Amino acid sequence: MIDVAVIGGGISGLTAAIELKQQGYDVKVLERQVCSGGNAISENINGFLMEHGPSTINAAMSEVHNLSKAVDLESSTVRLSDDVKHRYLVKKGELKGISTHPLGFLTSDYLSLKGRLRLMAEAIVPRGDNETGESIDQYIARRFGDEFSKRIMDPLVGGLYAGNADELAVKSVFPKLIEMEQTYGSVSIAALVRRLRGHVMPARRLYSWSNGVGSLPTALSVALSGNIHTGVSVRKVRARSQGFEVETAGQGKITAQAVLIATQPHVASTLLENVAPVGAEALGEISAPPLAVVFLGYKRAAVEHSLDGLGYLSASSENQILTGAQFPSSMFSRRAPEGYISLTGYLGGVRSPEIGQMQGKDLIGLAQDEFRDLLGVRGNCELSRVRCWSRGLPQYDLGHPARTSRIQNIPSENPDVFVVGNYLIGPSVGACVANARKVAESASSYLRLMRSAKSEGSSALPKNSRKYLQYR
Ligand SMILES: Cc1cc2nc3c(=O)[nH]c(=O)nc-3n(C[C@H](O)[C@H](O)[C@H](O)COP(=O)(O)OP(=O)(O)OC[C@H]3O[C@@H](n4cnc5c(N)ncnc54)[C@H](O)[C@@H]3O)c2cc1C
Repeated sequence: MIDVAVIGGGISGLTAAIELKQQGYDVKVLERQVCSGGNAISENINGFLMEHGPSTINAAMSEVHNLSKAVDLESSTVRLSDDVKHRYLVKKGELKGISTHPLGFLTSDYLSLKGRLRLMAEAIVPRGDNETGESIDQYIARRFGDEFSKRIMDPLVGGLYAGNADELAVKSVFPKLIEMEQTYGSVSIAALVRRLRGHVMPARRLYSWSNGVGSLPTALSVALSGNIHTGVSVRKVRARSQGFEVETAGQGKITAQAVLIATQPHVASTLLENVAPVGAEALGEISAPPLAVVFLGYKRAAVEHSLDGLGYLSASSENQILTGAQFPSSMFSRRAPEGYISLTGYLGGVRSPEIGQMQGKDLIGLAQDEFRDLLGVRGNCELSRVRCWSRGLPQYDLGHPARTSRIQNIPSENPDVFVVGNYLIGPSVGACVANARKVAESASSYLRLMRSAKSEGSSALPKNSRKYLQYR
């Protein structure tokens, strides 16, 4: 019997596994695909680097930096290029460039004068309730005004979370904003204080590695070699009198003292339906509409736009086909061959779940049409690739906080079952790493307690230790 069976080898599962391995536990990662990494896939195609999933890491989450240091990736870190000077937003069918400077929104006419004055008035809006049940739209409109919410937050939420600002819970998606408001009485004052203390501007905190974000799971997999079994799909998890039996599709059974489920929530729900039915039901309620990534490579001369930014986003009221796009060859060096540029378009999410039914060539056509209109792309593309994720990003909707409590309560009933993933504390790679490390620590506490119980001749966990094992 091994100590822990980690089911799912995305960033979350790999991070938890490496933590447990470093603490001396016998761990096996079972991954359905032939390669580990989950969403985090970087592919070099004739000198064009395509990110099928995550493309940037936010330096504010120091856990990823620490992890990358531990697997010797630090030296290949690449910072955002100095060519990134603007963020672009679509306004009336055209791109409007806004400086990435913190005062960029105030100096640009993207927002009306009234909208900008209301934005500045945030500093004097009274502090709200700490336990707010507001949507992102309600929260942002209350603090910064309706125009800021509809014209800035709506595109951001559509692009980053593939969701709608009026459906997602501010408490789940932007807990930091509530914390800033509660501490300083105003989000802008809090941001100013942080800036004076030397915090880096949000747009400049992004980084990657020279071979893309997929370098992280690749390096983790190397460090875990011998503990990872790819091409192994787990079908069932059965509780036994001692530990679990993990049944795979055609690759036999594994017995483990504890299981750590690191799959997408719908899979976790099926695997846990007989083991932890309440948590499994909550996991099954999490929606994740399809998301498509269209990657296109062009000769530089074929594109009129200066591409001096990260990319662009568009508010739902603009009715664009794409939720947004990135300019990878402007963001980081060596992402396209000399004389060429690359563009990535994102489609789907809550705004257009029907893309899940579309053919790749049609998705490419939609992205090409939009790039022709917004970026002045004139020539043919030299390279095109599509990745369609049938389940894109989990939606942290208004019911999510209650659902998360049911999921995080699983270990109080089943102290040997642990759950990690991008639906718990945030979908970003940083949040997945932070959550997986914390849960691995809980799993380690459990295994330690079991070891000491066994050495005292007992096979059960001391009763008063259960509460301690709940995720905090
Ligand atoms: C298009 C896109 C763009 C993104 N951009 C960014 C970005 O720029 N920055 C950022 O920080 N984040 C970004 N994200 C979010 C981030 O990439 C993901 O939230 C994160 O990678 C999820 O990791 P995970 O390990 O929790 O889940 P996953 O990556 O989904 O991994 C789950 C794993 O479980 C495996 N599995 C499933 N079922 C079974 C089974 N039965 N048996 C065995 N294995 C199984 C799967 O094959 C998969 O490998 C993006 C996501 C997408 C989709």
